[in-house]
Amino acid sequence: MTRPVVIAIDGPAGTGKSTVARGLATALQARYLDTGAMYRIVTLSALRQGVDLDDPTAIAAAVQNTDMAVGHDPAEDRSFLAGEDVSAEIRGDAVTKAVSAVSAVPEVRARLVALQRNLADGAGPVVVEGRDIGTVVLPDADVKIFLTASAEERARRRNDQNVASGLRDDFDAVLADVRRRDHLDSTRAVSPLRAADDALVVDTSDMTQDQVIGHLTALVEQKAGAIR
Ligand code: C5P
Repeated sequence: MTRPVVIAIDGPAGTGKSTVARGLATALQARYLDTGAMYRIVTLSALRQGVDLDDPTAIAAAVQNTDMAVGHDPAEDRSFLAGEDVSAEIRGDAVTKAVSAVSAVPEVRARLVALQRNLADGAGPVVVEGRDIGTVVLPDADVKIFLTASAEERARRRNDQNVASGLRDDFDAVLADVRRRDHLDSTRAVSPLRAADDALVVDTSDMTQDQVIGHLTALVEQKAGAIR
């Protein structure tokens, strides 16, 4: 019997993870779940409620009942907070700066991990992207991929994206932010960012995104054939 294939993609910011995960989901005609978007939605909710980001108890209380939804079409980036389309706002500076503090709160993670497991458990294959998918959310995923790239390369890519979307050209500030987020994400007590022991680690520093997508699509198809 054929069962849906579950693919976990983890890695730090700026490895091209989102583009690769979407490209892979499109190539495989799979659903796509962006767990980072979920952490961003609850962060926006906390910010709108004026919560003190140094107060984990207040953060946990504020996001407890957040009414949120995310799309699962890899071709569309759609995120909702209480029915409002916040897809653009959750990518802004305010949310990006605050999201690590919110995602370090154990109650926040527990709630979102439960939600992510539910969402991943639908019909058909699914690509789930995040930081702790292969280690915590879906430890039984069929294929686990961990993308890496040097901090400088990741900062260069992010700064190029910023410039392309009309934001300031400031490589040093972006590099500092990449390093700050890496540090927070990999040293937090709950679900620190690390590759699962059985993950395939792919360094994308010297690869184009198309090369990464092609490489991973072939790999997943081979693996999917083996579990059918
Ligand atoms: O992937 P993205 O950069 O949108 O994720 C935003 C933030 O959400 C990350 O910096 C990280 O702090 C948090 N996150 C997480 N666990 C996940 C996905 C994202 O802690 N599975």
